[in-house]
Amino acid sequence: MSVGPTLELRQLGHTGLSLSCIGFGASPLGNVFGHVSEPDAIASVHLAFRLGINFFDTSPYYGGTVSETVLGKALRSLGAPREKFIVSTKCGRYTDGFDFSADRVTKSIDESLERLGLDYVDILQCHDIEFGDLDQIVNETIPALQKLKEAGKIRFIGITGLPLGIFTYVLDRVPPGSVDVILSYCHYGINDSTLEDLLPYLKSKGAGVISASPLSMGLLTENGPPEWHPASQELKSACRAAAAHCKEKGKNISKIALQYSLANKEISSVLVGMNSIRQVEENVAAAIEVATVGKDEEIFKEVEAILEPVKNQTWPSGIQKS
Ligand code: NAD
Ligand code: MG
Repeated sequence: MSVGPTLELRQLGHTGLSLSCIGFGASPLGNVFGHVSEPDAIASVHLAFRLGINFFDTSPYYGGTVSETVLGKALRSLGAPREKFIVSTKCGRYTDGFDFSADRVTKSIDESLERLGLDYVDILQCHDIEFGDLDQIVNETIPALQKLKEAGKIRFIGITGLPLGIFTYVLDRVPPGSVDVILSYCHYGINDSTLEDLLPYLKSKGAGVISASPLSMGLLTENGPPEWHPASQELKSACRAAAAHCKEKGKNISKIALQYSLANKEISSVLVGMNSIRQVEENVAAAIEVATVGKDEEIFKEVEAILEPVKNQTWPSGIQKS
């Protein structure tokens, strides 16, 4: 067996977990980005693990539990000891709506563990908290998760969502060390890197950082985003232009975007949604290439120039308080 360069591992905050710099985002396994057959989904997870990806992220919300169920099937047949892979799932967001009550999240972890075929998950995250009452997250949800930690059903506690202000709101109000991880998405990529300014604060709070959606949920792909994508037409067309430019030059926008997101080592893992063997191979190769050879500066500069007019443009998410 040849031992080539492998994926870098990075420490996640104070958790002691060592995450592969690319994490496997399992939302596509819930058919969120188009239909995926179960054999393809399982083969993608197995290959990812063989190529050094040790971190898998899902949620009961993705595909209305389909993502968790399929990921569970893949993990059961992985043939690896439990401590060799790291699993995060979420609570509080379901296909029937949001519910961050202590009751619901306490029930929901048991259902998730059942679907995943696991005794515990490494990280349980409150999913898209900007749709909930942040004071409830602080006063009720996180204390409930603390009990799940004591019961051994979860190892670490996280919060996720789009607007960056949710993280400071919660971290400023919870007891130190009670939120181990934050998961941000669409804010550390080549078109939007606003998470960067928050990194020193997150470090000061001892929160590990996971950044998701380096391809901006499909904006930075040759095929373009799914129908439901919330970006403005302006942002969509700038990304389409960047993808077309790369293609013309014989390059791939997804590779460049992923390499951009991997550059900051304060971010422990970049979660990319994958649903095929080909995507797993391409993404692992892109990570190894940038770590060993470095990046193709010219095409990076060209893409950044095309995206300059829409740099850091985002979209509203959650309950807007006036
Ligand atoms: P992403 O930016 O990772 O894009 C995923 C899309 O890109 C999918 O259509 C996928 O098939 C495609 N893709 C992947 N690799 C490709 C390649 N090499 N070439 C072409 N296309 C490729 O967006 P995402 O899936 O939304 O985010 C990644 C993961 O992060 C999710 O699966 C989920 O686990 C997590 N996430 C969590 C939250 C949250 O908690 N609120 C939000 C967003 C994402
Ligand atoms: Mg999500």
